[in-house]
Amino acid sequence: MFSQFALHERLLKAVAELNFVEPTPVQTAAIPLALEGHDLRVTAQTGSGKTAAFVLPMLNRLMGPAKVRVDIRAVILLPTRELAQQTLKEVERFSQFTFIKAGLITGGEDFKVQAAMLRKVPDILIGTPGRLLEQLNAGNLDLKQVELLVLDEADRMLDMGFAEDVERLAGECANRQQTMLFSATTGGSGLREMIGKVLKDPQHLQVNSVSELAPGTRQQIITADHNVHKEQVLNWLLANETYQKAIIFTNTRAMADRIYGRLVALEYKAFVLHGDKDQKDRKLAIDRLKQGGVKILVATDVAARGLDVDGLDMVINFDMPRTGDDYVHRIGRTGRAGGEGLAISLITHGDWNLMSSIERYLKQKFERRTIKEVKGTYTGPKKVKASGKAVGVKKKKTDGKGDKKGDKKKAVTKGPTKRKSVNRPGAESLVSQDGMAPLKKRVTRPPVAE
Ligand code: AMP
Repeated sequence: MFSQFALHERLLKAVAELNFVEPTPVQTAAIPLALEGHDLRVTAQTGSGKTAAFVLPMLNRLMGPAKVRVDIRAVILLPTRELAQQTLKEVERFSQFTFIKAGLITGGEDFKVQAAMLRKVPDILIGTPGRLLEQLNAGNLDLKQVELLVLDEADRMLDMGFAEDVERLAGECANRQQTMLFSATTGGSGLREMIGKVLKDPQHLQVNSVSELAPGTRQQIITADHNVHKEQVLNWLLANETYQKAIIFTNTRAMADRIYGRLVALEYKAFVLHGDKDQKDRKLAIDRLKQGGVKILVATDVAARGLDVDGLDMVINFDMPRTGDDYVHRIGRTGRAGGEGLAISLITHGDWNLMSSIERYLKQKFERRTIKEVKGTYTGPKKVKASGKAVGVKKKKTDGKGDKKGDKKKAVTKGPTKRKSVNRPGAESLVSQDGMAPLKKRVTRPPVAE
């Protein structure tokens, strides 16, 4: 809960207005330290909620009664115009119940209009280093009374050759009391050098270094006991994972509608897309998702075809797709353009064979993940204990209570460590447990996701 932080009630009101319920990990870690006035060095990705992690403490510091503004009191430096614009929007959203005003200075905009804006003196100045320096050199900018400086995406600013500009601007904010530096990676010697120059005894918070080590899309499975349990796992993921936008795939329209209903009841902003929805609905859903008004889309495969939304960084397969190609298509929605993505498949007993055949089809092994808060009893096919003897010999005995079909299931789904007992290699020999056609054939059929 955001009320755990010592934030001004007007900021908490804005947070509630924005439907932020739980702070993200970076917010939990950074907000209290930032409120105490520490210099911070934070390693966190875009999409982790890092903007609020520095904007909220910044606004808290600047809160006060309405009065004539005479000094710029805080500066946020970012590498690109888009990020600067996005950050301005975020600042405006959080400051909506305050008297705090923010201004934007980036390249590509009218220099004189910017100078006029600077004459009105915003409390917070957000900008890219190059144009800010130009305004400074033109005598339009005074940063001497800046109390708080934030360098966001500092590693990217260095990559873009802004090191000197950033240091110069930091030098202009000579009387600042606090500096926070955010970067997506732990960076190299250039970043260390900058940290040494601009931060004083910083606390280092590292929030998502694991995904940083594994670029592209991480693929995980989480086992579940049944569909109701899957819903619990889904709720946990939506509440606890760090994501910008998520898509939840189901195999049927009915299930998509059911999940959508649950999410709406939980006050998530979501949309549902399936074969019953017309082009207008689809366009509306995608536009809202692109603009970020909606963060969650529940969809069947057919409806999600061709979907290309920036910042879609989490895919949840509530139902396992029926083919390997559908799986590839689904997870291809995320981790685009070198971005990070997370694909999580929820796997019940009935999904296991399909999941493991897709693993073989892709020649990949998905990461097994357990969430202790919502852990069930099913954890995948039981391993056959052979009390020191060959697994193959004991298979039937330990499986005694199962019927013939059950025995066959075990043979097919030994799980990842027992793959040698499965007919390999090649997808053409993969038979799924529910008697569906071999995977290779199924992948060429037209999609029948609903
Ligand atoms: P950022 O990493 O700051 O770019 O944030 C990514 C997205 O997550 C933005 O759309 C934020 O508005 C949103 N966001 C940040 N923190 C939260 C939160 N605690 N709850 C819900 N959404 C959040």
